Amino acid sequence: MENSCFNTWDREHLWHPYTSTINPLPTYMVASAKGATITLADGRELIDGMSSWWCVIHGYCNERLNAAATRQLEKMSHVMFGGFTHEPAVELGRALLEVAPPSMNNIFYADSGSVAVEVAMKMAIQYAVAVSGNHQKTNFATIRRGYHGDTWNAMSVCDPVTGMHGAFGSSLPVRYFVPQPQSRFDGEWNPEDIRSLKELLEAENENIAAVILEPVVQGAGGMWFYHPEYLRQARRLCDEYGVLLIFDEIATGFWRTGRFFAWEHAGVEPDIMCIGKGLTAGYLTMSAVLATKKVADTVSGGEAGVLMHGPTFMGNPLSCAIALESLKMLNEKPMAQIVGDMEDIMREELAPAAKLPSVTDVRVLGSIGVVEVKSDVNVGLFQKACVNAGVWIRPFGRNVYIMPPYVISHDDLRRLCRTLVELVSDESNY
Ligand code: PMP
Repeated sequence: MENSCFNTWDREHLWHPYTSTINPLPTYMVASAKGATITLADGRELIDGMSSWWCVIHGYCNERLNAAATRQLEKMSHVMFGGFTHEPAVELGRALLEVAPPSMNNIFYADSGSVAVEVAMKMAIQYAVAVSGNHQKTNFATIRRGYHGDTWNAMSVCDPVTGMHGAFGSSLPVRYFVPQPQSRFDGEWNPEDIRSLKELLEAENENIAAVILEPVVQGAGGMWFYHPEYLRQARRLCDEYGVLLIFDEIATGFWRTGRFFAWEHAGVEPDIMCIGKGLTAGYLTMSAVLATKKVADTVSGGEAGVLMHGPTFMGNPLSCAIALESLKMLNEKPMAQIVGDMEDIMREELAPAAKLPSVTDVRVLGSIGVVEVKSDVNVGLFQKACVNAGVWIRPFGRNVYIMPPYVISHDDLRRLCRTLVELVSDESNY
């Protein structure tokens, strides 16, 4: 089939993320990808600014990861986790606990970020009911402008305005939302920020199993970086009111914010933590839910006697082997330095955007750079301009943002940032 025929077939039959079948956004045919470069079928090369939505941390087609996958394929790609275990699952678990918050003790392997959030929420409910004997203690609290995934319960804790509540209406469980903290990550802490969470927990703790937060960086809900003090205060309040604290580190994990995990910016640990995306370096879909021994054992001592979840692909050996190799690579590399250098370059190169009349804010944290513009960006138009300029960026709402693979060269990172600023400076591009 010719490339144009592929594109036509794709357009007529394949549903892409958040896309209309009547008027789909354009898609570009990818032939291959290596390192931080994506090659299109027509030969054009693009510098990757997205790490394919945060996950391809070591770049595409990595030799060590390819070799780890191939070695595991020779043994077995999958075996059920019910009744079996295997070396990749155990070795990965051990490696994860070495980098996780010290109080994490039990690991549940799941399929994707959204499913990890579902599992964490189920865990929290089973825990809360077991501890309190109160079958009403099953709701959740979170901050506005969050994003936790696309499955039912994950959707219910996404921002109620910019998330998917509109489309699904009363079919979604109703959660408690408090305002998004306004204190900037690197600004001054405003104690007012925590007041609404305190008031909520004071009034409703008997109905709330857990508070769920993306620590420090709110990703798809607005690319906002808030003050770590919020997490310290939230931890204190959760302890005071007998509510669990869940950190969704699916986007922030694996050095994206300049620390291995974002909780380290605040120094307070969650009771339950979700990880995904970068876990398998973008090779396969896998996530994990980590919990303290107290949470795990209390769930297991509850009415059901077990955690009620067990997916088909749980602990997939191929995914585990790749994730283990990726962790080894992270541990061998000077990641603080690598991400610190990326941060310095992005700060320098994106700074000129702050002077543009169409730009309302520029912020950088770790290897995440955000240029926020006055009104929603036309994704199709902007991506066309990006592809013509040799870069790959997918804006969302008013945010044009990048989080490139850690293997990107400094020259390519500078080119990516300069191109972003150039494209944003011409409003006809969006
Ligand atoms: N939580 C956060 C913070 C995320 O950024 C995402 C993915 N964008 C998810 C959950 C859902 O992950 P997945 O797309 O793998 O289901």
